[in-house]
Amino acid sequence: MKAQAGPEDISRVCRRIEALGFKAHIIPGEQRTAIGITGNSGPVEAAEFDGLPNVAEAIRVSKPYKLVSRETKRENTIVSVNGVRVGGDRMVLCGGPCSVESRAQILESARAVRAAGAELLRGGAYKPRTSPYSFQGIGEEGLRYLAEAREETGLGVVTEAIDVETFDLVETYADCVQIGARNMQNFSLLRRAGRSRKPILLKRGISSTLEEFLMAAEYILAEGNYNVILCERGVRTFADHTRNTLDLSVVPAVQSLSHLPIIVDPSHGTGKRDKVLPMALAAIAAGASGLIVEVHPAPERALSDGYQSLDPEQFTELAQECRAISELLASRRRVPAGV
Ligand code: PEP
Ligand code: MN
Repeated sequence: MKAQAGPEDISRVCRRIEALGFKAHIIPGEQRTAIGITGNSGPVEAAEFDGLPNVAEAIRVSKPYKLVSRETKRENTIVSVNGVRVGGDRMVLCGGPCSVESRAQILESARAVRAAGAELLRGGAYKPRTSPYSFQGIGEEGLRYLAEAREETGLGVVTEAIDVETFDLVETYADCVQIGARNMQNFSLLRRAGRSRKPILLKRGISSTLEEFLMAAEYILAEGNYNVILCERGVRTFADHTRNTLDLSVVPAVQSLSHLPIIVDPSHGTGKRDKVLPMALAAIAAGASGLIVEVHPAPERALSDGYQSLDPEQFTELAQECRAISELLASRRRVPAGV
């Protein structure tokens, strides 16, 4: 739609789409609103919409991930998580432990990441673990502690939902619901996330292609939730010097194909504490909109992922260094051409 399109213009287009038997998706933007069409089995005539008031253009989308595609919406999507804008000019930092272990542990973590400049707090209350005998999270008790940490620090809370059964509970406490790598193709969970009013952080599957990743996001948008943040967290390769291989080239690849913001998780992406800072710097240099980093007050005592967790001091250094890279890049973008 043109920038000056009003609600009546938008609903006129939606009525036309629905009259044809299709579903209309109003995807708001900072400047312009895009309206996606799904439910059509073949091409829809652009002429159906071209002449309607304040329609800028009718575009035939060639990609299978229609709503996620930049063809549908050219402008970058900015997802607001508890008022924190993810996908804008400023890099966003999310830090916190892999798992919520106790009230004291999450409050201490929250204070530490906040002091370092993070705006979002992470921590899993429900954990998807490879072994059924590993620590599985403390469930609702953990969600309550996260809410308390938000109350005290003002940080927005990002926490994972591992199944449809507990999604309702997780979304009542979370500011952003994480769908983990192992669940990236859990289609019933993706559909449930699509019916949520909370933003979703969708992590890339352990061996998913870019197209599979974008199709997973499409499941969420197709159900009407357009607030999706993508997250690169490393994929499985033959390399065994790290836990996963952080595929930073997916950042610009996503940005050219999709309007959704993408952030990077250098913790799971490397699995090794000493690799987290350099890969975090590289992620920001590559254009990621933010980072999600595991931070624990005492990593050696963590109940999960301690070997890849930073202590508060290391996270403070990471935040400062990454902020410096981000500001340098932003200042260069502001320099007028020819100067
Ligand atoms: C996590 O964030 O702790 C987690 C389990 O992430 P992933 O799904 O990327 O492995
Ligand atoms: Mn973890």
